Amino acid sequence: MDQQKLSELIDTFFVCDKRQIAEIFNEFLSAMEAEERLAPGGLMSRNYETAQANPEIHTLPGNLKDARDSVFPFFWGTDGWYSKLHLENVKGPANYASLIGALACLLKNPNLCVDTYCLRSNELEVKAITSLANLVFYHTESPWGVFTMGGTISNLYGGKIGIEKVVPGAMQSGIGGVKLAGVVSQAAHYSNATLAGWLGMGTDQLHAVPVDRSMAMDLSQLEAKLDQLYQSDHRVAFVIATFGSTDAFGIDDIEGIRQIIQAKAQQYSQPVPQLHVDGAVGWVTCFLNEYDCQANPFQLADSTLPLIQKNQRLAQKIKFADSITIDFHKMGWGHYPASAFIVNRREDLRYLFRTTEDMPYFSEADYRHDPALFTLECSRPGLGPYSVMASLNGIGLTGYQMLVANAMELAHELKMRLEQLDYCKVLNWDTAGPSVVWWVLPKGRNAQEIFDRMERGELSADEFATYRHEIHRMFEKRDAMKDRAQDARLSYTSSMGYQPHGLDIPAWKAVFFNPKTDRAVVDGIIQSLENLV
Ligand SMILES: *Cc1c(COP(=O)(O)O)cnc(C)c1O
Repeated sequence: MDQQKLSELIDTFFVCDKRQIAEIFNEFLSAMEAEERLAPGGLMSRNYETAQANPEIHTLPGNLKDARDSVFPFFWGTDGWYSKLHLENVKGPANYASLIGALACLLKNPNLCVDTYCLRSNELEVKAITSLANLVFYHTESPWGVFTMGGTISNLYGGKIGIEKVVPGAMQSGIGGVKLAGVVSQAAHYSNATLAGWLGMGTDQLHAVPVDRSMAMDLSQLEAKLDQLYQSDHRVAFVIATFGSTDAFGIDDIEGIRQIIQAKAQQYSQPVPQLHVDGAVGWVTCFLNEYDCQANPFQLADSTLPLIQKNQRLAQKIKFADSITIDFHKMGWGHYPASAFIVNRREDLRYLFRTTEDMPYFSEADYRHDPALFTLECSRPGLGPYSVMASLNGIGLTGYQMLVANAMELAHELKMRLEQLDYCKVLNWDTAGPSVVWWVLPKGRNAQEIFDRMERGELSADEFATYRHEIHRMFEKRDAMKDRAQDARLSYTSSMGYQPHGLDIPAWKAVFFNPKTDRAVVDGIIQSLENLV
C-alpha cells in the first residue's frame, strides 16, 4: 500500500475539514437564495436520455468539491417547494428547525436498529414517538412505536398486526388457505392497496366502503360489508380509517367504526380486526385539540372557528383506534423520511416480534433498546426523531397551532370565494383541512345545479362525460395560460373520493401546505378563473 496516498485519501474523506464543509454548505445555501428569486418549478430541464447511457464513476480520488460538483446540477434542478405558489399537493417546504435536527442526525449518522449502534438516538425516538402519541391519542397509557420509511410502511405495520391478530402465527407459518380481507373507505390512500398486495393478502381483498359527501366512510355500508365478508368465511384483519384524506381531507368516524367492528366480530365469533388510522396528513389538526375557540387568542375569523370545533370533536375519537400513521414529513413540515407508526397499547407490538417462541414473556428491556426485534427494516435512519423533536421544540405547540389554523383559514377563504362563482362548485365544503377540491366549468354553466343533478342520479353518462371533459379542459387552459412567476400551481384529480352512483368525480385541487401562501395568492386564483373566458 502506498501509505502516503492512503493517508491523503483518509484525510480528505474521513477527517472533518470544518472550513471546507462550511464553505460548500454556504454555496448550496447561496444557490437556494438565488432560486427563491426565480419562478417555481422547472429550474432546469431534465435529461433522462443519457442518465443510463453515461453513468460515471471518477477514476482517481478527488476531493469534497468533486462530490459537490457531481450532485450540483441535480440539486439546482430540484424544486424545494419553498415558493408560496406551490399549492398542488400534500408536499410542503421543510422547516429550518427540522434542518437543524436533520443536520445533527447526518453528522452522527445513527442507526436506529439497535441502541448499541446509536445510543441516545434511540432514546430520542422514544421521546418523539411519545410526544406524537400524546398529541393524537390524547389520553393514552402505554403508547409505543417507530419511525418508518413513510406513510405507506406505517400503514403496512398496522395491516400486519391485524393479520397476526386474526391468523395467529402467520409470521412463522404464513396465512395458509385463510381468506383474509381488509376494509378502507373509497377516499382512502392507494398505499392501503400496496400493503394488501405486499402482505400477501391481495389487492382484490381490500374492500373500499363508499363515503358520504363529507368524504367520511358510510357506516351503514361498513356494517353491510362486514356482514358480507363474515358470511362468506373471510377473516377481517383490519379496518383502516382515514383521518384526513389526501385530496379532500375527509375524516372517518373512528368511534363509530370501533363500535361496529366490535359488535360484528362478536356477532360472528371472530377476533376483532385491527383498527388502524391513516392520519398521514390529518394528524396535524390535533395540534388544535386544545385551542380555546371561546377566547380565540389568534383572532381567527368567525367562519374558521366552527371548522376547528368540528375537527376537535373528530380528533377526540382517535383514542378508539389501536394504531395510527403520522407523516411528519407532510404537515409537520419535516424532512423525509419522518413517518411514525404508533400503537395505542404497547402489548400490540408483540404480534410483530420475530421470536415469540423464544420469548415467552414480553421483554420490555429488549424491545425498548432494540426495535429491530419487531421492525420491518433492519437499518433505520434517525432523521425522523431528529426532525420531529427539533421542529416541535423550535416551533412549539402554539407555533404549530398558528400554522395549522392559518392553512385552514386560507382554504376556507378560497372555498367561500369559489362558491360565489356560478361556474364553480366546491366539493369538500364540509371538511376542515388545508385542501380545497372544486369544479370549474365554462362560464354560463351553473355548477351547483349540475352537481345536484349528479347527486340525484339525473345526469346521463354522456352528460357527465361532457362536464368531466369541460372541467379538465378548463384546468389545462389555465395551466397553459398561467404565468409561472405569478400564478399559483394547482393540481387535478380524476377522482376525489366521493362517488355518488359510482361516478368518479374529477376536481381541481389546491392544498394550503406552504405557510408563506397568503391572501394575495387566493386573490390570484380567483382572478385567474375570472380570466378564463
Ligand atoms: C401521503 C399519504 C400516504 C402515504 O404516505 P407516504 O409517506 O407518501 O408513503 C398514506 N396515506 C395518506 C392519507 C397520505 O396522504
